[in-house]
Amino acid sequence: MTANFLQLENGQYPNLMKQLKNENERLNAFNFIDETEKTGKIISVKDNICVKGMPATASSKILRGYVPGFNATAVERLEKNGFSVIGKTNMDEFGFGSFGLNSEKPAKNPFDEEYIAGGSSSGSAIATAIIKDHVSIAESTGGSISAPAAFCGVVGLTPTYGLVSRYGLIDYASSLDKIGFMGKSADNIRDVMSKTVGEDPKDTTSLSKNVSNENSRVLYVIDNLMEGVDEGIRDRFESLLSNLANKGYKVEHTKIDYLKHAVPAYYILSMAEASTNLAKYQGFKYGFKVKDFSLNYNDFFMSARKQFGREAKRRVILGTFIRSKSIKQKYYEKSLVLRQSIIKMMHDVLKNGFIITPTMPIFTPKIDEVKDISPVEAYSMDMLTVPPNLCGFPHMSFPYFYEKGMPLGAQLITDHFNDYALLDFLSEWEKDFKYTFKEELG
Ligand code: GLN
Repeated sequence: MTANFLQLENGQYPNLMKQLKNENERLNAFNFIDETEKTGKIISVKDNICVKGMPATASSKILRGYVPGFNATAVERLEKNGFSVIGKTNMDEFGFGSFGLNSEKPAKNPFDEEYIAGGSSSGSAIATAIIKDHVSIAESTGGSISAPAAFCGVVGLTPTYGLVSRYGLIDYASSLDKIGFMGKSADNIRDVMSKTVGEDPKDTTSLSKNVSNENSRVLYVIDNLMEGVDEGIRDRFESLLSNLANKGYKVEHTKIDYLKHAVPAYYILSMAEASTNLAKYQGFKYGFKVKDFSLNYNDFFMSARKQFGREAKRRVILGTFIRSKSIKQKYYEKSLVLRQSIIKMMHDVLKNGFIITPTMPIFTPKIDEVKDISPVEAYSMDMLTVPPNLCGFPHMSFPYFYEKGMPLGAQLITDHFNDYALLDFLSEWEKDFKYTFKEELG
């Protein structure tokens, strides 16, 4: 591992590509790299966001061969502002996962390849970690920007739901999906973000609200949310809080009822939506095509839909069950009600200050340690990132500590449409925080 970040210098483009391809062999950051020489600032884009003329697979075999002839609005707006896309980043299939392993090519942590990079936006986090001044366009449904950002030691900002158009996003759960950003500096993220936000006639859920930056010096710790957090993580997080208190922040403690229901409510809603969103992959229109029209109905669709990976199949089956008439009141409708209550309870806290939590409840695990954990155990790892995602609150994971050379991230949450306050916080934080790789720590 080189301690230096890959750089794009004048006239050095072929060199960067060579280095990038080498690193990619090792870390599986990209599903596709565009080697044509770029001008202007470069960005990378998660593989579930459409870029004209580049394959878009969402890391799914069922989308193999799909090359959209149009740009997602976020990409279109950035290209108009002089940005060029260098490639499509690896991810958990359709966004299903937190570890970056639900992909044909497991994503590896740039600090140590034996460890996970996190997911689902694994490749965007790796690209941001290894390329100097890089910003990657990622996506979060329930924590997919925060989790890999924390494990790879970069900043991940998930905006308010609706602030960035979802047009051109391969949807997972439409009422939860948010396009967002990964970077290493507040200025870079702000630069990219300010050019993508805003209403889009092609996405009726996009919003034209002004984004504010009402800063608060009050940080709320939600005590009942900390209950399932690893003790070592709690300990480091306490040091972060003391550090912030020394910088003039006031740390308050509170409780939010119902938060323990956030993860089940999220998985019920997201699986229900995913099962309908994935219904369009039938072997006709997008990607993988079934060519044998002599097959009977069941065999035809089965031969297409068996292209889904294990986790996608699980979610289609569970999501379809959740939506079935006899039980939808019991699970789906109850989850919608819970979501509204949690929004209200979190909002009551956020109107008085930020909420701060560790990003993930565990230290970065090794790939071997999580490969075989049960789905429910894996879902429970999202306990800290799901609440803001479920409620559409803007939030940011930022690195704050290196434990034996591996980064740790904390999550800052603010009220709807106050997204820029997160970046103002980051501008202050990064004055004292140095991004590094393991070797540099000695
Ligand atoms: N880990 C969560 C899930 O699998 C979040 C994924 C995401 O945000 N796309 O649903």
